[in-house]
Amino acid sequence: MSEWTIQDSAELYQVEGWGEPYFKINEKGHIAVLPRGEAGGELDLFNLVQDIQKRGLKMPLLIRFSDILADRIARLNECFIQAIKEYDYKGDYKGVYPVKVNQQRHVVEEVVEFGRSYQFGLEAGSKPELLIALATLKTPGALIICNGYKDSEYIETALLAQRLGHTPFVVIERFHELTLLIEAAQKLGIQPLIGVRAKLTARGIGRWGDSTGDRAKFGLSADEIMEVVAQLKKANLLSSLQLLHFHIGSQISAINVIKTALREASCIYVELARMGAPMQYCDVGGGLAIDYDGSKTNFRASKNYNMQEYAYDVVAAFQEACREKNVTVPTLVSESGRAITSHQSVLVFDVMGVSHPQFGEPQPAERGEHSIIRNLYETYTQIASDNVQEAFNDASQFKEEALSLFALGYLSLGERARVERLYWGCCQKILGLVRELDYIPDELADLEKNMASTYYCNFSVFQSVPDSWAIDQLFPIAPIQRLDEEPTVRGTLADLTCDSDGKIDQFIDLRDVKSVLELHPLREGEPYYLALFLNGAYQEILGDMHNLFGDTNAVHIRLASSATGEQSYLLEHVVKGDTMTEVLRYVQYDHEALLESIRRESEQALRERRITLSESRLLLQHYERSLSGYTYLTSEPQRELARS
Ligand SMILES: *Cc1c(COP(=O)(O)O)cnc(C)c1O
Repeated sequence: MSEWTIQDSAELYQVEGWGEPYFKINEKGHIAVLPRGEAGGELDLFNLVQDIQKRGLKMPLLIRFSDILADRIARLNECFIQAIKEYDYKGDYKGVYPVKVNQQRHVVEEVVEFGRSYQFGLEAGSKPELLIALATLKTPGALIICNGYKDSEYIETALLAQRLGHTPFVVIERFHELTLLIEAAQKLGIQPLIGVRAKLTARGIGRWGDSTGDRAKFGLSADEIMEVVAQLKKANLLSSLQLLHFHIGSQISAINVIKTALREASCIYVELARMGAPMQYCDVGGGLAIDYDGSKTNFRASKNYNMQEYAYDVVAAFQEACREKNVTVPTLVSESGRAITSHQSVLVFDVMGVSHPQFGEPQPAERGEHSIIRNLYETYTQIASDNVQEAFNDASQFKEEALSLFALGYLSLGERARVERLYWGCCQKILGLVRELDYIPDELADLEKNMASTYYCNFSVFQSVPDSWAIDQLFPIAPIQRLDEEPTVRGTLADLTCDSDGKIDQFIDLRDVKSVLELHPLREGEPYYLALFLNGAYQEILGDMHNLFGDTNAVHIRLASSATGEQSYLLEHVVKGDTMTEVLRYVQYDHEALLESIRRESEQALRERRITLSESRLLLQHYERSLSGYTYLTSEPQRELARS
């Protein structure tokens, strides 16, 4: 057996596949973050986490790397610039960031800051998002795309924003909005900038496949688009119709789906121009995918194309369609959210304890023991690679029989315990042999999952990774330390909530999905940190307060050079996670009233001598301190739990 190396870990956790160019493993066996990608600069994530904790910020911790966000925005824009150059395309690219993907103020402000030189704009999908966009975007010439359901107030606000120097496009997503828009334009005497959202027949595949197609929630059919043109003409507003929009869903894994949509959309664009609308923009929506599992395939957690190919395809589609019909090419707009914000955020949490389904070598059966125990032990000793299936069937059979005997009173609890330990011993031995087989028999396929250890982690899936629970989305997860050491345990992750869904038991794999993650045995008194990567899109705002676990602490890190020229960083913003008082207020509890109630009860108990003065003081202290504290567990050195 050769020594385990960091290269082995890199392969095991697919770090290059999903992490490039921002994450790798350093010589210390720690995850390293390269926030500027190839441009240089490297931070040791393990050391960073310890530094942040020394500042009094507790686990779980969401770390946002501002430089990664800047790099993603630059990368997207540069890909389009490259494609435009390559194809000698006579139009521009002006992207917008869809605010719904991550609405946190610091994130949106940074998107605007980093996108300024590219005239990067914002997309709003609702009235509150429009309010954010109007107040945050300060880039002359950048677009504000107004999507989502609209009422007159939304539309009038967008129109009036033109007076402030903004360039807001009101996108008609439902036919009814046209009437509101014409009314608002006439009432205010403002010439609107209008877009239409086309409902394409090209359907996405996978989770968001329903975003297009005849039954899609948003968008206009060809018939409705014709009617929009007619009505705008009648209202003398056809000169306002300048933008075509479509959106075929998020995380589109297959490039051919995108190509088909582009072909259809570019034809609609050309038609609109030929009908007399002074078309200038085509907004190709979101959908640019992220390679969560690093497999570079059209699997749902991956994508079979890169950002540059995407940009080439968008540019080429419009170049071709417009050239054919002699129409001026549009300024291209995309609403890529996931592709911009995913990489910047890393969620780090600590493991509080672990339980294993089996422990130790089973003891040999004694002479006088129950025959079922002796049989099971014999099965155990005879397990070999050529009889794993048979041995598993026998062991399962003996265990079932033992349970029946126990239920009938023929077996003591101690004997049942012996049976269970022997059974798990058999499973463990069989599993060791099965892992070496090329072909795994059906009955044994679940063994890995059933024999997995459970790592109890200090976080809430519902708060921090809701899509893992809601739609089985996969995120790369790996330890951030000890990567120069072989991870000998296979486990699943359980969160702090008391919900049995509060777990992660699906992990990225090059082939499909794996049900266990390779982890290290815990060491007494030493923290063990896991990180979940690529979770900067959608997770924060979809998260909920199941079991009243609130927002986690979040910090923004920017690379900097220290006086000595060494790599260092700036902790730019600290967004403290919710306190229990804040979370309780959200569900209408007043912390003063809660405290008062406990105070009154302990006075009563004191009077009746059910509690001592010092106990009562301790209780009130704990209660009061908890109210102002973090909703997660304060880490203590974890203990290995022997058994589940
Ligand atoms: C959600 C959404 C987006 C963002 O999609 P990504 O796949 O995250 O890039 C863009 N446009 C519209 C209309 C959306 O609804």
